[in-house]
Amino acid sequence: MDFGIPAEFEEELGRYKEFISRQLTPNLGAWYARKEVPRDFFIELGAQGWLGLEADGQRLREHNPLKEALFMEHLGIISPGTGVAVLAQVSLGMMGIILFGSDNQKELHLPSAALGQKLVCLGNTEARAGSDVAGISTSATSVEGGWILNGAKSFVTNGYISDLALITAVSDPEADRNSRISMFLVDLESKGISRTKLHKEVWIPSDLTRIRLEDVFVPEANLVGKQGRGLQQVLEIFTNSRITIAALTLGTAEGAFKAGIEHARKRDVFGQKLVNFQAKSFEIADFYSKLEAVRMVLWKTCWEKQQGADFRLSASIAKYLSVESARAIGQWAADLFGAASVVYEHPVHKYPMDAWASSLGEGTQDIQKLIIFREVMKQAGG
Ligand SMILES: Cc1cc2nc3c(=O)[nH]c(=O)nc-3n(C[C@H](O)[C@H](O)[C@H](O)COP(=O)(O)OP(=O)(O)OC[C@H]3O[C@@H](n4cnc5c(N)ncnc54)[C@H](O)[C@@H]3O)c2cc1C
Repeated sequence: MDFGIPAEFEEELGRYKEFISRQLTPNLGAWYARKEVPRDFFIELGAQGWLGLEADGQRLREHNPLKEALFMEHLGIISPGTGVAVLAQVSLGMMGIILFGSDNQKELHLPSAALGQKLVCLGNTEARAGSDVAGISTSATSVEGGWILNGAKSFVTNGYISDLALITAVSDPEADRNSRISMFLVDLESKGISRTKLHKEVWIPSDLTRIRLEDVFVPEANLVGKQGRGLQQVLEIFTNSRITIAALTLGTAEGAFKAGIEHARKRDVFGQKLVNFQAKSFEIADFYSKLEAVRMVLWKTCWEKQQGADFRLSASIAKYLSVESARAIGQWAADLFGAASVVYEHPVHKYPMDAWASSLGEGTQDIQKLIIFREVMKQAGG
C-alpha cells in the first residue's frame, strides 16, 4: 500500500497552488464583495486543463480522483465558496454528461465545458424535495419533438452564471417512485426560464439561484440518459460528487485549523501565548488527528474509484467525517479569534459558515448515515 502522492501530481499541484495564489487569492476580496465568481476564472482554470477533464491524445479523460481531490482540498483552504463553484461545474454538471450523456451531448458540450467556456449546473432540489430526491414535482410533458418542462428548482449553485442546467423532472407520473423521473439538459437562455439569485451567507462568492421553468421546450435530443432513470442517475452523480465535496470540506477544516494555530501562536492572553495553554494544545492534537483520519478515508475512496471498485460506502464516510471535522474545527478557529471572527471580512469568518454549507450539499449528515447504515447491513448480509 502506498500512501504517497505520486510525483507527477506533486509537481502539478505545485503549479496549481502557484496559479491560485496569483489568480484567486488577490481577487478574493473583490469577488466576496460582488458575491460572484467571474466566468473568466473558469476559463483560466480550463486553459490549464484543471476543470475535471484533461487531454489524453485526441480525447478527453477524467482527472484521476486523487488529483481532483487534492485540487479541491486546496481550493477549500483558500476559498470554499470558490471551490464549490468549481465543484458544481465539474462534479455535478459535467459529471452528469460524462456519466450519462449521449455521444452527441458529450461532443457538443464537454470540450467547451472543460475549457470553462460553457458552464453547466445541476438543479434537483425543490421547495418540497431535497433529501427525498424522488419527491420532486417539476413536470416534463412529452410533446412533438421534445418535452415541456414546468416547475422550480430552489437551490442551484452556479444557476445564475451557467449556460446549461441538468434538470430532473417527472416524465412518467403514473410510474413508481423509481421510474417516474428523467433528466434533461436545459439551455438556460430558453424562453420560459427565469432566475433569481438568492441572498445567502455561506459559500461566498458562489451564487445560489432559484430557476423557474414555465412551459420551457426541451428538444428530445436533450434527454440525458434513459427516460425514467433520472432518479438513479442523479443519485449516481451525487455519489461521485461526494468525493469532491469531502475534499472541499477537508480543505475547509484545514484552512480553519491553520488560521487557528497561527493566531494561537501570536495572541497574548494572561501573560502568555494562547497556544501555551494545555487546553488548547489538546484541542490541536485532537483536531490534527481528525484531519488525518478524514484524509485517509478520502484517499481510500479515491483509490477505490480509480480501481473501478464500489466507493459508495467510503464516499459517504468521507463526506460525513469531513463535515463533522470542519464544523468542529471551523467553530474552534472562530472561537480562538474571539469577537474579530464575527466580522464578515475576517478571513476566519467563512470557515464555520462554509462547513455548515458543506453539511447540506450532496446529502445531509442524516442522509450519509442512512447510506452508511444500508451499506453496512449489506456487508453484514442483512
Ligand atoms: C449552499 C447550497 C448549495 C446547494 N446547491 C445545490 C445544487 O447545486 N443543486 C441542487 O439540486 N441542490 C443544491 N442544494 C440543495 C441541497 O442539496 C439540499 O439542501 C439538501 O439535499 C437537503 O435538502 P433540503 O434542504 O430540502 O432539506 P430536507 O430534505 O427537508 O431535510 C431537512 C432535515 O431533515 C433531515 N432528514 C431528511 N430526511 C431524513 C431521513 N430520512 N432521516 C433522518 N433525517 C432526515 C435532514 O438531514 C435535514 O436535517 C444546495 C444547498 C445549499 C445550502
